[in-house]
Amino acid sequence: LYVAHVAVEMAPICKVGGLGDVVTALGRAVKEQGHNVEVILPRYDFFLQSPLLGATTYEAEFAFGGTYIYVSKCVVEGLQCFFIEPQNGFFSDTVYGRKDDEVRFDFFCKAALEFLLQTGRQPDILHCHDWSTACIARAYWRDYHNYGLWKPKVVFTIHNADFKMTKLGEAAHHCQRFTTVSPTYAYEIGGLPAFAPQGAKFMGIRNGIDADIWDPQNDPFLPMAFNADNVTEGKAAAREALRGRLGLTGWGDKPVIGVVTRLTAQKGIHLIKHAAWRTLERGGQFVLLGSAPDPRVQAEFNSLAAQLGGENAAFCFTYDEPLSHLIYAGCDMILVPSMFEPCGLTQLIAMRYGSVPVVRSTGGLRDTVFDVDYDKARAAWEMEGSSDWQRDGIDETNGFAFEGTDGPALEFALNRALDAWYNNRAWFHSLQKRVMLQDWSWNKPALDYIELYFAALKS
Ligand code: ADP
Repeated sequence: LYVAHVAVEMAPICKVGGLGDVVTALGRAVKEQGHNVEVILPRYDFFLQSPLLGATTYEAEFAFGGTYIYVSKCVVEGLQCFFIEPQNGFFSDTVYGRKDDEVRFDFFCKAALEFLLQTGRQPDILHCHDWSTACIARAYWRDYHNYGLWKPKVVFTIHNADFKMTKLGEAAHHCQRFTTVSPTYAYEIGGLPAFAPQGAKFMGIRNGIDADIWDPQNDPFLPMAFNADNVTEGKAAAREALRGRLGLTGWGDKPVIGVVTRLTAQKGIHLIKHAAWRTLERGGQFVLLGSAPDPRVQAEFNSLAAQLGGENAAFCFTYDEPLSHLIYAGCDMILVPSMFEPCGLTQLIAMRYGSVPVVRSTGGLRDTVFDVDYDKARAAWEMEGSSDWQRDGIDETNGFAFEGTDGPALEFALNRALDAWYNNRAWFHSLQKRVMLQDWSWNKPALDYIELYFAALKS
């Protein structure tokens, strides 16, 4: 297969959120299966100063849309990338946040298609992502589908259905296959009018994490390498480093609960605050790493930090990748109380580092975190001869979950997690070992995408 991703984000050179991670890690995983994968991106001005991007070389140049398009290329994380640069300086300064985002990304999409045509490239699959590249599906269908022998199929992935629904719906109608990033989120948004008539060509494939980037056995930001065999010692070392770095001097043997997130309404802000109070009341320690784009939210958290911050709670309002690694490793539990969550990566990273996830059971969180108390339910089903309790090949429980949206709902999960830590430490350590051994990499989802690409080809 020859797969060309068209995207406006890609980790690490121009990552804003999960979308950027997916383009890179999915692309790499599909390439590892022997396919040809390329990525077409806008050429942003900040690339010039970026230490993450190597030297680019010339690839093509052509007239389009009243200007000239210059295309350069470079290999990023093992993937061939092409950068589209209109000579009128149209879309270069930032990823998102301009008033004309929609116009400039539409222009980028059309220029990307034109680039493929002009240089005789014929991908089997054009894979586009979210509203910013939704235009590919429609532009291709309208302007290019009778053009020569070139007949790529368009696969469209929705990473977050919260933005520009009309545009997403339009793309969904014009592509051959469309996906979202977990089966439960597919179920949750599948009924929305924009997507409803699409039935069979729509499915959810859960995201994975890049097992090389997130690897406690080989992580430059940890004081000690560890794996499932020495998880207790490895996490104890990380916990002391974390406590030292954040000044958590509170005396005694305390559970540490962590949150790594963007502080937006989607992420369950009121539940994060509630958890901070509750954790401290129960004698634990609370660590938050979060960036708040909204100044009002920031002000709320400043006041929370003023009340709780100190020897048992630390609030870091920034984006800090190295610190996030230490938090994933040094905490006993990672809390993800999202109101909605297309897939969520933090619970998967947490498990890779032996932290037990405590989550609100929605979207991809529901597909990846299975409450330890389901064990009882499973035992009952097995007695009735049922063996269908299998999700994504992972049949062991791995965390604590709740469903409601208020404080008591959260406490249903958080209290059980804390009780287990306080009263049943050996079992808690065995749970940490178990979650570390589960495979949340791209190995399986990449195969699902390849199957989907082949199905799109036949459609
Ligand atoms: P979303 O894409 O909605 O932000 P995901 O859970 O899919 O949520 O992905 C979040 C990614 O961003 C994870 O890799 C997480 O570690 C990282 N992240 C979020 N907030 C921060 C932060 N303040 N500092 C460092 N990394 C962060």
